[in-house]
Amino acid sequence: MSKVFFCYSWATLEDDVRFKVLYCGICHTDLHFIKNDWGISTYPFVPGHEIVGEVTEVGSKVTKVKVGDKVGVGYFLESCRSCENCSEGLENYCPKVVLTSGAPYHDGTKTYGGYSNEMVCNEHFIIRFPENLPLDGGAPLLCAGASVYSPMKYYGIAKPGSHIGINGLGGLGHVAVKFAKALGAKVTVISTSDRKKDEALNHLGADAFLISRNVEDMKAAAGTMDGILDCVSAKHPLVPLLGLLKSHGKLVTVGVPAQPLELPIAPLVVGRKLVGGSNVAGIAETQEMIDVAGKHNITADIELVSMEDLNTAMERLAKGDVRYRFVIDVANTLKAP
Ligand code: NAP
Ligand code: ZN
Repeated sequence: MSKVFFCYSWATLEDDVRFKVLYCGICHTDLHFIKNDWGISTYPFVPGHEIVGEVTEVGSKVTKVKVGDKVGVGYFLESCRSCENCSEGLENYCPKVVLTSGAPYHDGTKTYGGYSNEMVCNEHFIIRFPENLPLDGGAPLLCAGASVYSPMKYYGIAKPGSHIGINGLGGLGHVAVKFAKALGAKVTVISTSDRKKDEALNHLGADAFLISRNVEDMKAAAGTMDGILDCVSAKHPLVPLLGLLKSHGKLVTVGVPAQPLELPIAPLVVGRKLVGGSNVAGIAETQEMIDVAGKHNITADIELVSMEDLNTAMERLAKGDVRYRFVIDVANTLKAP
């Protein structure tokens, strides 16, 4: 069971958790869906999948959380729970996964995301929110944090002794820098200009900074990285990134540009390099990620916006004008129509 946008008709079933939405991050995926970049959007569409709130009601069989607890919901809120992926805790790869917004739910309704006053979902998909993390800065971790933490672990590209490149210093990229540092890696930010250089090195904790459009810079860093996490939302060349990898290096893409990217095979073959992808994280790993964030005090750098400023925030996100994640102050600014 999902959602609610000023509508209280969805019951809280025995294993459901109902919560009041306090904050919701604005992910570039919301923008891709709003613009129908991937050709899969349906309207009306209520975005939002970086949701933090306070539990207001629990079903009779719920054991995970209680009324008053702070909780989160990320990119999906249901799956089949019986397939191979689900049984391994990889609900994010379940063929029947139900996205938190804009997806058909199995009762024939449609999910509406966290740009809403309240949510209802099965307790399995609820993430317990660490007590020490701020709710607003922590909200983006539910998607951005999970999406960068999972591939770092799965592909083994951020660990003590490894050198990782983070391409695209946006919402995902800037939390990727923080997690990669927490996991013990050397981190180089790869960005389109020098505008974020000072913040990357002196505030986010990156060890080095490369401008992807500067051929000399890229040449000097050729063959130095074990892995690259590509967090770019738009079409961009992959060959210069492959050139940064050592032999056997891994280029892992989490960004999902609307246009296909060109992937020449020769640089892969010659250096035994690998190109992979990754999609958010399963529920257990999302909980692990946010607990790691709690331990290392990792949050997103955010700009808090009101519901009224949403359209302006979307326009600014489309232009890359945000340092580094917009978060909506839902509880204080969403007014009844
Ligand atoms: P974002 O905040 O808009 O950041 C995207 C960054 O990409 C920008 O900050 C910019 O970095 C870089 N960029 C933008 N246009 C570029 C271009 N033409 N060439 C090179 N670099 C460019 O977006 P986000 O919320 O982090 O999301 C990034 C992508 O990940 C989106 O496609 C989103 O849908 C996807 N996503 C995937 C997952 C997953 O699990 N796979 C989860 C969430 C989001 P610089 O300013 O440093 O150049
Ligand atoms: Zn997202």
